[in-house]
Amino acid sequence: MDLESPEQQAVRAAARKFVANNIIPRADEFDKSGEFHEYLLEAAKASKIFTMAIPTEYSGLGYDARTQALVLEEWGYGCAGMGTTLAASILSMEAVLIAGNDEQKRRYFAPMLNTEIGAFGLTEPDAGSDVGAGTTTAAREGDGYRINGAKCWITNGGVASVYVIFALTDVLKGTKGLSAFIVERDRSGFIIGDKEHKLGLRSSNTVYFELKDVHVPVVNLLGHEGDGMKIAMKTLDTARPAIAALAVGLAQRCLDECVEHLHRRFPHKPFPGQTLQFKLADMQIQVDAARQFVRHTMALRDAGMPFARESAISKTLCTDMAMTVSTQAVRLMGSYGYTSELGKFMRDAKVMQIYEGTNQIQRLVISRAVLAPTPKAVPLSSAGAS
Ligand SMILES: Cc1cc2nc3c(=O)[nH]c(=O)nc-3n(C[C@H](O)[C@H](O)[C@H](O)COP(=O)(O)OP(=O)(O)OC[C@H]3O[C@@H](n4cnc5c(N)ncnc54)[C@H](O)[C@@H]3O)c2cc1C
Repeated sequence: MDLESPEQQAVRAAARKFVANNIIPRADEFDKSGEFHEYLLEAAKASKIFTMAIPTEYSGLGYDARTQALVLEEWGYGCAGMGTTLAASILSMEAVLIAGNDEQKRRYFAPMLNTEIGAFGLTEPDAGSDVGAGTTTAAREGDGYRINGAKCWITNGGVASVYVIFALTDVLKGTKGLSAFIVERDRSGFIIGDKEHKLGLRSSNTVYFELKDVHVPVVNLLGHEGDGMKIAMKTLDTARPAIAALAVGLAQRCLDECVEHLHRRFPHKPFPGQTLQFKLADMQIQVDAARQFVRHTMALRDAGMPFARESAISKTLCTDMAMTVSTQAVRLMGSYGYTSELGKFMRDAKVMQIYEGTNQIQRLVISRAVLAPTPKAVPLSSAGAS
């Protein structure tokens, strides 16, 4: 059964071509230099692909979640670092889609239509998994808010033009006092700090930044004061399956690289022993199963059904799978697999188990759903196939 519509097949084919021409040939170079892949934004301009999450009424491509997943998978196949740039920008847009009014959406999406990117600033030096430990504040002042604090590990943090930033409007209320704001990069007091030096995703821009008396007008508040935690959690629900799609692409690439290498290494004889072949089979089983679960999660979202539980499962399932498959790929390719070019997949896979909420935190979310009085599981077949 063909699960992709003709339109989706065309989108996948275009994304694959873009990745083959623009990402795969330069991924190793940017991984080695650790520089941000600025050139890619320019290359993406003609395809408008950076606007795929923006609804058509705001002049974006307006792809549904399943179609976005196809593109993300292809990006993950090419380079997870470059794919993360796109995914993190979409993450910030999702917050605006969830909580923004019409004017805010127009304003936030305008730079993206010009191939600029956004960032999502939740994590702080002392607040990662425990969002409630954040100390960034937004004090009401005159016609706006004065934001003070610091954010760290923010993807696109040094290269975005607009940000969604979370800050406490009421420090006494904990997470109930958290609010979300649109913050433009050129506001006075927005100070971009050091780049994080990472094991993987090296071409992705990840930075620390400070907000020192950054003034934003009231119209930059998303939703109402105190809505921040709800907005952050709903946004992350939409983003986790996107990371899962990147992970599927990365794992498929590992498998393809392995097969190619093994054909080269053992050209005139069958691969040595069944062990090797069975390992390849196991890798393909895991990749295919993970891909189907992402598709299922996206179908639930497109159908307007609850998908928070499936979002957490897809993130955990696919990123753990990518870690296993990429490690296996290094093993199967011997010393060739240990080159920085191919070892990159394993380095990149590792972070997927950490960002957008660690897989331990996802297991907390999933176990809560499992233990809830009314199970919310949706049968795999009931959300539509395409
Ligand atoms: C490359 C990269 C890009 C990132 N991009 C962004 C971004 O764009 N925006 C953003 O806001 N953040 C971003 N982050 C931050 C990321 O989301 C956090 O690092 C992540 O949520 C984990 O927080 P932490 O690093 O503070 O770990 P901690 O919260 O300190 O956790 C440390 C360990 O303890 C475990 N742990 C913590 N609490 C519990 C618990 N209650 N139960 C069980 N185990 C627990 C964790 O699973 C982990 O293994 C990024 C991180 C990286 C590495």
